[in-house]
Amino acid sequence: MRRPLIAGNWKMNLKRDEAVDLARGVGAAAGDGEVDVLVCPTFVHLDSVFSAVSDSKVAVGGQDVYFEGNGAFTGETSTEMLKDLGCEFVILGHSERRNVIGECDKLINQKLHAALAAGLKPILCVGELLEERESGKTMEVVQSQMDGSLEGVSADQMAEVVVAYEPVWAIGTGKTASPEQAQEVHADLRTLLATRYNQEVADGVRILYGGSVKPANAAELMACPDIDGALVGGAALKADSFAAIIEAAGA
Ligand code: PEP
Repeated sequence: MRRPLIAGNWKMNLKRDEAVDLARGVGAAAGDGEVDVLVCPTFVHLDSVFSAVSDSKVAVGGQDVYFEGNGAFTGETSTEMLKDLGCEFVILGHSERRNVIGECDKLINQKLHAALAAGLKPILCVGELLEERESGKTMEVVQSQMDGSLEGVSADQMAEVVVAYEPVWAIGTGKTASPEQAQEVHADLRTLLATRYNQEVADGVRILYGGSVKPANAAELMACPDIDGALVGGAALKADSFAAIIEAAGA
């Protein structure tokens, strides 16, 4: 039985006081239900957000991490730094990092190995561009991202990985994949994991949907059998809308 995970990706938003207020609001909303709740603020707010959620069950994670342990890597953050603060999760391969910053699967794979070695749970994002969907290449693209990002990852390690299917055309656009479109890709991803590893791994890995999830569409998406939660951007920036999504996942 996979436990739902609702993760908020705050991206490059909020001032420190706003982040702390939001974190307190999420902490109050998270309750003690059957849903794991995670917030991923920008690095500079991690410490303040940790303090704000310390008396709640909300986990805190990074939006990215670098693969080298330490040294002359200006602007980067190490897995050890995230662990030292208490981070449990780290988002890797988000479409904005792939398509805006230019990250490739090889780099994401290096980061994923570093995260696993440090005991962080990677949330590996995959998803197709609009033109790729329209030309019928969704699964080809997603499969190649999975293959490249998961190279060398063992079945045991895969148990620590969360996958997030995020069609790029649905991120921050207000356009959501229909429950049928999302479920189809999630089921294909699970089949891919069964082929790559085994059925036990495929049945255990949580696959989140991301792309304009909001209170109005969360329940129907979460009701799909292969959707195990959500990675939420815009609607995670308000405590009440994020709380409604947590509730839709069964808190
Ligand atoms: C995201 O940032 O991963 C995301 C899905 O954003 P939004 O919910 O705003 O589409």
